[in-house]
Amino acid sequence: MKKDTALITAGRDKKYTGSAVNPKLSRASTIVFDTVAEMAQAGFNKNYQFDSSSQSSQAAEYYGRRGTSTTLAFNDAMCELEGSAGSYVYPCGTAAITASLLSFLSAGDHLLMVDSVYEPTREFCQGTLARMGVEVGYYDPMIGSQISDLVQANTKVIFLESPGSLTMEIQDVPSIVDVAKANSVVTMIDNTYASPFNFRPLDFGVDVSIHSATKYLNGHSDVMLGVASANANAWPQLRDNSYELGQCASVDDIYTTLRGIRTLGVRMREHQANAFKVATWLDQHDLVERVLHPAFESCPGHEFFKRDFSGANGLFSIVLADANRKAIAAMLDNLTHFKMGFSWGGFESLILPVGSAPAKRAQAPWKLDSRLLRLHIGLEDSDDLIQDLSAGLERLDKELKHARNI
Ligand SMILES: *Cc1c(COP(=O)(O)O)cnc(C)c1O
Repeated sequence: MKKDTALITAGRDKKYTGSAVNPKLSRASTIVFDTVAEMAQAGFNKNYQFDSSSQSSQAAEYYGRRGTSTTLAFNDAMCELEGSAGSYVYPCGTAAITASLLSFLSAGDHLLMVDSVYEPTREFCQGTLARMGVEVGYYDPMIGSQISDLVQANTKVIFLESPGSLTMEIQDVPSIVDVAKANSVVTMIDNTYASPFNFRPLDFGVDVSIHSATKYLNGHSDVMLGVASANANAWPQLRDNSYELGQCASVDDIYTTLRGIRTLGVRMREHQANAFKVATWLDQHDLVERVLHPAFESCPGHEFFKRDFSGANGLFSIVLADANRKAIAAMLDNLTHFKMGFSWGGFESLILPVGSAPAKRAQAPWKLDSRLLRLHIGLEDSDDLIQDLSAGLERLDKELKHARNI
């Protein structure tokens, strides 16, 4: 099945939808049983997925924390899209990341974490994991097969995120997976940027693919949700540990995200085309030193992007030629269509003055002061967005010239 078709059909089995198009929204804490035998059967089915031998979705329902038929429809959909043996849903992407790491790490273990990782993931490593006695080593996102030099006897997990947060380096996933497999190390990746529409990590041998579904999967800036999808080797451990941690999510949010998934393909293509126009315009602007966009040849790891991904999206960063805090404020305070916000993946355009996160990197800290901006290009007309940025850059320029003259 082609991927656009899969987005439409995934998780829409009749056992979830009944006679409607969409799965039923089933809100429940308590699942009730008529017989001891039914209750025992449900308790035995810990796979959080519909048992295909049964015609009723209730055969897989047990207690609200394990989810209702709405949850099962979502999990099934994610398994189809990611090609996974199982998928587990969390209240946000950060919970999906932390629960995945906790599922595979114990005191005394060593974790190899990509240095360009999303900042809250790094904070979890430096906070909770350090407190638990997990040793964390950070590796250069461009390391490739050289990661073999960093693997220790106690290395249990290699964590990837590609492209890197804010700076967009694309990792050589197959080379890192080869090293991990040779050393029996579990690999997990934050796949939020690509979504399963543009990259399927499990097809490349990664064990666990993690998403902030808050971003493109939902796509409308009104839900927090996370999901992790695992291959058959990793699934039982991910599932049982996540359940022990009490991870579960609201069925309203799950339903809404499932609705978002139906239009993921058309949204991704439109975000990609719109962002490419804006990024190309910015790349030619005198006040812009660099555009960091995976589809641009100048992006570190662009060759891996071309080889492994089937498309880009609305997200990229730029490095301004010159800036100071006042000039940045002059540019960003008065934009019409771009708002400042920490998220992305919704229908609307956002711009973010990047703080100190890239400067905190262990291997190759970025020292750019305030010159790095991250943009998310929404579904507005690109002409309007370019006009907005053009006026903003003029204000930036004016403020910089003013500062030079005094
Ligand atoms: C937003 C984001 C997260 C965290 O997701 P939440 O749903 O906000 O907790 C994790 N990784 C990446 C790459 C993100 O962009």
